[in-house]
Amino acid sequence: MNFAITSKGDSKSNTLMHKMRSYLLDFKLVYDEDNPDIVISVGGDGTLLYAFHRYKSRLHKTAFVGVHTGHLGFYADWLPDEIEKLVIAIAKTPFQVVEYPLLEVIIRYSHGGKENRYLALNESTVKSVDATLVMDVEIRGQHFERFRGDGLCLSTPSGSTAYNKALGGAILHPSIQAIQLAEMASINNRVFRTVGSPLVLPAHHTCMLKPVNGADFQITVDHLTLLHKDVKSIQFRVADEKIRFARFRPFPFWKRVRDSFISE
Ligand code: NAP
Repeated sequence: MNFAITSKGDSKSNTLMHKMRSYLLDFKLVYDEDNPDIVISVGGDGTLLYAFHRYKSRLHKTAFVGVHTGHLGFYADWLPDEIEKLVIAIAKTPFQVVEYPLLEVIIRYSHGGKENRYLALNESTVKSVDATLVMDVEIRGQHFERFRGDGLCLSTPSGSTAYNKALGGAILHPSIQAIQLAEMASINNRVFRTVGSPLVLPAHHTCMLKPVNGADFQITVDHLTLLHKDVKSIQFRVADEKIRFARFRPFPFWKRVRDSFISE
């Protein structure tokens, strides 16, 4: 089996990365940064986001596992003092794979140039560059509302505990094939109206944003931020691709939620 290891880059993560690499080589696994069957991310959830984007072209052939060197992560569940156990599990056990849904983002441009397609593990956000964001929101091809405010956030179930949660969105279990639309500071008064609640869309529904004024937007995909000019529409839906996590023991989602947000 081929493996690769990505590190957050701090000394603790780098030391663990080197140790795991040498243990796995001792077990006769092959280090292959370009074609890994398993990617071990050492750091935090942010490190796993980077690893996901690095290997997003081979998601069907790669499984991810995360070791956290900071606080407990949603994607990184192994502790530094468990790496020997993890290495043995990787080397000896045929592992179980758990799949989580991803968000597909397609940006189309008025000048008719080539559309851009992205995959997000956590979310994509849309903000205006200078003024209030004004967007017509369509769901499944039907006009839903005209949004005015700071921005909109479309998240995956596993990303629902990240930016989406800070916006008052619901936490979705990652076994649910859905995306969630959450508002950022919508303008609501007697003239302007939005639904005000986060919306959860099933896999067969598409959400389309169409600019009303302005065509330049700051669009994020996980940790990446890009300025897109001359935007005609931005389309979101549950992607056909999924991220695959290697599971060597139970990792209950609601326990992670509790440990991260409630228990000390
Ligand atoms: P960052 O600003 O360095 O870190 C953002 C924080 O979000 C980190 O503590 C990270 O955990 C945590 N995080 C990432 N994915 C998560 C998830 N699925 N559930 C719960 N927490 C999660 O940025 P970054 O490391 O490049 O990560 C980019 C992410 O930051 C974006 O995808 C977005 O979700 C998040 N973000 C959140 C807000 C907000 O809450 N107001 C604003 C902007 C961006 P680790 O420390 O374990 O890496």
